[in-house]
Amino acid sequence: MGLDATIYVYSPKILTEREITRLSYEICECYGHGEFMVNNPTEQKKRPTWPAHHAFTTLESQDWGDWDFLSDEIKKNLTHGVGTMLTLHYFGRYYGVGYERGDLPKILSVLNWVRLRIHNSTVFYGGDGDCAEFTEDEGHELFNHFVFKGHRPYLEGWAHEGGESPECPMCKEQMGEYGWGPDETRFQCFGCEYRVMKKKSTGEIVPEAERLL
Ligand SMILES: [Zn+2]
Repeated sequence: MGLDATIYVYSPKILTEREITRLSYEICECYGHGEFMVNNPTEQKKRPTWPAHHAFTTLESQDWGDWDFLSDEIKKNLTHGVGTMLTLHYFGRYYGVGYERGDLPKILSVLNWVRLRIHNSTVFYGGDGDCAEFTEDEGHELFNHFVFKGHRPYLEGWAHEGGESPECPMCKEQMGEYGWGPDETRFQCFGCEYRVMKKKSTGEIVPEAERLL
C-alpha cells in the first residue's frame, strides 16, 4: 500500500474536448505515456469495464462548494461555469514532507509543464486525493527538502526486525532493510545498492554476491 500522487488543474479558460485531448497527447509525448494512466482503444477492448481515457480528463461536480481544497474564487467560477477543472492521471507515488517516497523531480517537472502549457492555471497536488493548491514557491521549498533529505526518511522508517543494520563497506553508511524471510533480514545500501542478508538466528552476514554463487 502506498500514497499515489494526485494532481488537479484549474484552467480559468474553458477548455474544449479537443483541447484537452491535445494537452493529453502532448504531455504523454513529452514524458512518455507510461508516466500517466491512459487507456487506449486496445486496452479498452481487452478490459471493457475500464473506460477509454486520456492523461487529462474533465472533472465534473454537482456542487463545487464541497471541494474543500478549492479557493472560494475558483468554487464561485466553476459554479458559474467559468473555467475547466481537470484531473491529470499521473502514475506514481506521492512525495511530501513525512512521506518521502515518490519521484519528486519528475512530479515538479510535470507540474511546471502544466503551469506553462495551461495558461494562468492553478495546480493542486497531494497524496491519494488529499490535495492542496501547490505554488511554484512551495515546489522550490519541497525541492530543498528533497535535496537534504532525499528518500531517506521513508527508507529508514522500515521496521528493524533484523536488529542493528550492517554498515556498507564502500559508503560507510548504515544499510536499510528491504526484505525479510523466516530466518533472514535483507539489507541494502542506498548509496551503491550493495546487498547483504543477515541470519536472524546467528547474526551471520552474507553478501548477496556470495549468496548468488
Ligand atoms: Zn554503499
